[in-house]
Amino acid sequence: AQKDYPILIKRGIINSLDFEIGRIYKNKKIAIITDHNIKGIYGDRIIESLSAYGFQIHTILVNPGEGSKSIQVLSHVYNQLLDIGINRKDLIVAFGGGVVGDLAGFAASTFLRGIRYIQVPTSLLAQIDSSVGGKVGINLPRGKNLVGNFYHPESVFIDPDLLNTLPNRYLYDGMAEVIKYACIRDKTMYEKLLSIESKEKLYENIEEIIYSCCSIKKEIVEKDERESGERMLLNFGHTIGHAIEKFFNYETFTHGEAVAIGMYCITRQSEEMGITKKGTSSLIKRILVQYNLPFEIGEIDNSRLLESIALDKKGEEDILNIVLLKEIGAGFINKINKEDIGEFVSH
Ligand code: ADP
Ligand code: ZN
Repeated sequence: AQKDYPILIKRGIINSLDFEIGRIYKNKKIAIITDHNIKGIYGDRIIESLSAYGFQIHTILVNPGEGSKSIQVLSHVYNQLLDIGINRKDLIVAFGGGVVGDLAGFAASTFLRGIRYIQVPTSLLAQIDSSVGGKVGINLPRGKNLVGNFYHPESVFIDPDLLNTLPNRYLYDGMAEVIKYACIRDKTMYEKLLSIESKEKLYENIEEIIYSCCSIKKEIVEKDERESGERMLLNFGHTIGHAIEKFFNYETFTHGEAVAIGMYCITRQSEEMGITKKGTSSLIKRILVQYNLPFEIGEIDNSRLLESIALDKKGEEDILNIVLLKEIGAGFINKINKEDIGEFVSH
């Protein structure tokens, strides 16, 4: 059963976090988990306002970057929670990008068999994707997100104004997932995105964009939390994307960039095979270019990428679910034999 929790999207909402949290949380102690970058920009403001409200705030700091989704850092977080004396009735606030959200959410889901937590996502990717849907977890040396949980926060507070300080590359990284939602579900949003011709205009429209993405994700996840059906739609571009990320040791492409390439690559193939409406891959390419995202890898040996995909899928069932588009705004799940994935990659 799915717990219903509010997702609040509002410019400036972090300035009234004290009040928003005060409405749902009656204890004193709060552990804020955040990274150095976020703390440097917003830390004092948040801590001051929450303290002034009467909360007892403790900050647990981690390094920025994917490396913090590790057993070591998780263990550090548990130790800090113990040092602070957090108990079952207390609250964790995850204040940061996807890394902090996944780590803090997983810590909350396991510490003392689970305590309450709130998500305050600060990156675009986290605001439209990772903070909604309840997936939390960490990486193992042998792969990403290999340890995790489904654990919903009490609330998600999304402040679009936080994105003003987000470095460009991460902004566009998040836009790749926005484009994904448009491709699988929302042609109107695709057209909207196409009409936005500058970063300023993007910021003017970002609140509405975040709202559209969260609505799509929430609706899909509510129908299929455990990813047995419809939730797989959210993996559009991800089969190839994951393989690309891994192939380049997570160094060359961000997650969004790899997904961008994956969306274009698979759509060009399915279009050629007559499954997807003609012209769809050009539309994807156009929107990706507009948002400074790549659509191809450049010089690499396709057979090596294929090997990488095969390796990625090793141990999974022989039938793969891949997500294709009928056209922009209409994604569907296509079952294929694992060994046929090559048809969707080559060129
Ligand atoms: P994700 O892209 O999954 O959200 P991270 O959590 O690593 O990944 O966030 C991406 C990077 O952006 C990190 O270095 C993080 O510290 C930084 N960051 C996140 N939100 C903001 C923000 N609002 N302002 C400035 N930097 C931010
Ligand atoms: Zn993704």
